[in-house]
Order: sequence, then C-alpha cells, then structure tokens
Amino acid sequence: MATDYFAVLGLSRGASDTDVKKAYRRLARDLHPDVNPEPEAKERFQEVSRAYQALTDPEKRRIVDLGGDPFDNGQGAGAGGFGGAGFGGLGDIMDAFFGGGAATRGPRSRVRAGGDALIRLDLDLDETVFGTTKDITVDTAVLCDACTGAGTAPGTHPTTCVTCSGRGEVQSVQRSFLGQVVATRPCPTCAGTGQVIPEPCPKCGAEGRVRQRRTIPVKVPAGVEDGMRIRLTGHGEVGPGGGPAGDLYVEIAERPHDVFTRDGEDLHCRVTLPMTAAALGTTLTLQTLDGEEEVDIRPGTQPDSVITLRAKGAPRLRATGRGNLMVHVEVQTPTRLDAEQEKLLRELAALRGEDRPAAAGADGGHAGIFSRLFK
Ligand SMILES: [Zn+2]
Ligand SMILES: [Zn+2]
Repeated sequence: MATDYFAVLGLSRGASDTDVKKAYRRLARDLHPDVNPEPEAKERFQEVSRAYQALTDPEKRRIVDLGGDPFDNGQGAGAGGFGGAGFGGLGDIMDAFFGGGAATRGPRSRVRAGGDALIRLDLDLDETVFGTTKDITVDTAVLCDACTGAGTAPGTHPTTCVTCSGRGEVQSVQRSFLGQVVATRPCPTCAGTGQVIPEPCPKCGAEGRVRQRRTIPVKVPAGVEDGMRIRLTGHGEVGPGGGPAGDLYVEIAERPHDVFTRDGEDLHCRVTLPMTAAALGTTLTLQTLDGEEEVDIRPGTQPDSVITLRAKGAPRLRATGRGNLMVHVEVQTPTRLDAEQEKLLRELAALRGEDRPAAAGADGGHAGIFSRLFK
C-alpha cells in the first residue's frame, strides 16, 4: 500500500502546491526536533518531511500521482542508505524551504558523528578461499588524547560566543515566496555552537580529533570474494569534537591467480594433454589450493571436457560446504611429426579405417562437401 502523503499533511488528494507548502510549514513548526523534543514528534516530523518531499519534487510527485510511493524501495518507505541515517538530513528540507538556517534553532553541539572510512585489502586466492587474518594500516581521525575531544587547551574552558550571545544563530529578514520571513542562520563566529574556544588545544587545534596511523588486525572469513566489504564497527573516523567514530569498511581485492580463475564458489583451471594421453587415458598430478590431487583422465577423453573435483573450490560464505574445482581439458594435436611418427600414425589410421575419413558436420552427421577434401 502506498502511503497517502496528502493525508500525512492533513490534505485531500490533489491539493495544490501552495496548500502543500502551507500545511508543511505549519506542521514543521510544531514538530521540528529543535522545538519539540518528544520522540513521537521527531517521527512525525520525518513523516511530514517525507510527504513534503514526495509532493513537491516533480519526479516524486509524478510517482505519487500514478498511485506509487517514491520512497518505497522494497525495504519499507524511507529506508535509508549507507549509515542508516534514515531520511537524509532533517535540516536539508528546512534549509531548502526557508532559504537556509531554520533548522539550526538553538546552539548545535560541537560534537558530531564521524564518517565511515574505506580501505582496500589485496589478498591472494588461497587467502580469500581459506580466510586469513591481516594487519592493515589505516590513517583516520582518532580522539585527541590531550583534550579528550573538548578542543580546549589544558586548564581552559570554552566561553559564550559574543556575536550570538550563545544562541548559536543570528537572524535576518528575508523575502521569499511566503512573503517576508525572519530567517535564522548559524552564527558565523561560533559556527552555530554558541561557544568559542579562546585557547585551542595545541595538539588538535580545537578539532577534538587528530589524524593517526595505526595498525589493526582484520579477520577475513573463508570464502570472501573480490569486491566484498568487511565492516569494522567503530573503526572509522572520529567525528568533530570527538564525536562517535564511523565504521571502517575493508574492501577485498583478490589478486589474479596464475592457474585458477574463480567464479563465485567454483574454481576453474585448464590442462593441456597430448592427443595420445587423451586417447589412452592417464593420471595427472594437479597442484590445487588443498595440495596435490590426482586427476584421472579416462581413455578417450575429448577436447573441452570438464572434470569436476567436488568440494575443492571455495567455501560457501553463508552456507556449509565448498564449491567445485573444474578442470577444463584441452587436447593438443601433434605438429611436426618426424618420419617414423608419421608412419606410425598412418598405420594407426589405416588400422582404424580412418585413412579415408569422412568429416563429420557440426550436427555429427556426414558433411557431403568436406568428405571429399581428404588427401
Ligand atoms: Zn556565535
Ligand atoms: Zn585536543
């Protein structure tokens, strides 16, 4: 069922753009998290903001008018992307609506959550197949230990910003489609925090965080594939003001292997056999990731046959068992026969009645034209 975004704003279907904007403004003023601390209000504000976006964005409105839900991506309405922030930035809409700044009522915290970080980890095939533990070196923001995130020099404290008297915002009158509105914007002196740091921490320069190179072990589970990411919770960037760290994502990059190529849980390799070995049968010793394996080549093996070594592939990441190792057989026809070899082959051909062969067509039948081409 598509959400009725008109109903969310207390409107009937087909309400005009102006009505949508009016309704949104009225509701947003009561529900905005900066004015209404109730958790229900926050939820309701998100709904209202989503409805506003659905009805004012032309692309989304088109979907609504067709009876669809522009936020329904199969994971429920408004399911967020990376980082699970849900509906992106409550302030964004307010900014768009009021020409910036209305979302910044009251001083905002210096402390903000940190971002995620991404690092690439190159691994060999046996490491992705069997799993490994690797030390990785990352260069991310970590908490400043000199001020533990406060950003102040030892023994000093932040003071109230004189530009905004600690409110974190300054006001100006602006003209907009709503007529004259008083717009608030973050205080330029204190960046909206309401406080200034007169004596910044000498180590982090009031940032509350510093960049640091460190080495951490990463456990790579057996069966990972190229491009997969391992998440290390809380190992990303520490935020401004020592805010909680984001996550660190380790992206697996699998180095190509000399012998094996990988297709998910299966491994593939090629072996080339002399024609005689393919005809007579033989046993090959193949160096697999598990060690040496005897591969039985049956007499009469055809070119492009595939021999499957069960459970010698990569482990299944989210299930038990392993994939297979597929050995693709190529058969080599001898070239440059010496006189004796040629004589033997001719004798063989004669014994097999193949000295006047009829060429088989693609369908396995006799191809009339080609059957005359023998020497
Ligand atoms: Zn200020
Ligand atoms: Zn510091």
